[in-house]
Amino acid sequence: MKSILEKAKAESRFTLSFEYFPTKDDSANQSLFDTFDQLNQLSPDFVSVTYGAGGSNRERSLAVLDHMSPVIPTIGHLTCVGASRQSTTEMVQRFEQAGVAAILALRGDPPKDNPAALAQGEIKTALELVELAQSLSKLDVGVATFPEVHPESVDLAHDLKVLALKASAGASFAITQLFFSVDMYTNLVDQARAAGLEMPIVPGLLPISNAKQVLRMAAMSGAAVPTELVARLDSANEEESRKIGMDHSIAFGRQLLAAGAPGLHIFTLNQSDAAREVALGVGLA
Ligand code: FAD
Repeated sequence: MKSILEKAKAESRFTLSFEYFPTKDDSANQSLFDTFDQLNQLSPDFVSVTYGAGGSNRERSLAVLDHMSPVIPTIGHLTCVGASRQSTTEMVQRFEQAGVAAILALRGDPPKDNPAALAQGEIKTALELVELAQSLSKLDVGVATFPEVHPESVDLAHDLKVLALKASAGASFAITQLFFSVDMYTNLVDQARAAGLEMPIVPGLLPISNAKQVLRMAAMSGAAVPTELVARLDSANEEESRKIGMDHSIAFGRQLLAAGAPGLHIFTLNQSDAAREVALGVGLA
């Protein structure tokens, strides 16, 4: 992944990438794989596949990695909340067998039905997961970053200290949480660079094709949606609201690239239309 990002930078080119999540059951898999095929026609640089915190859907994540890795460089997300050292070691090995290009090392959040999971697990932070993954494999390791500051952190300076520890442990790239303000991204990157952190920080972009769904996800992740945008979305009918949201997403993507982002990582929600519209709209496809 590091090499893909570095090569694109050397060629003065932006990367295009897509995030997918494993489906809840086999019947939805065909639709996911159809979306994957459709978006691959845009020649993305890489894709990533999420992982259920607590390993709830580990077999489903692995099945998706098995499907995607042979086709395109694929990042497997891996969480450690509630996990044992042994089970995490096995997962890193299975990711390698699946042929992933990199691991996105995440802590994950404790599942609602087991808030004590963090205390029960053997690996408590993403930093420990970065260290373990580095000791077990030669795969690139990436991490999460938070333009609006991690909800449990006191401030961005603390987040950046943790990011620096992860970089020292071998993390070589970062992908951000969803967010809606270019200033937050530039502030994160500027402060990271000032702290001596050189790793590429790829912004995650969630297309606003379904306003209700996006506002719900934003609330869950603590991302602030500009009040003026919320007001416009709220006062529009469904069709208008999709247009307002998508126009905003495309403009936002363009602004991020103009502000120096290495590329865009588009959260597809396993749907191709909105992701394709953004990729085309910003000129990455
Ligand atoms: P950590 O780095 O462990 O940080 C958690 C908190 O602990 C932070 O406040 C941090 O400051 C603090 N902390 C950590 N280490 C230290 C230290 N050494 N000293 C002091 N404080 C410390 N969740 C999933 O369940 N599955 C997914 O697939 C998934 N994919 C994601 C992809 C992206 C791009 C992003 C941004 C998030 C994703 N998440 C996913 C959510 C993520 O797991 C949660 O946001 C989680 O709360 C934070 O994970 P982290 O890796 O930043 O944790």
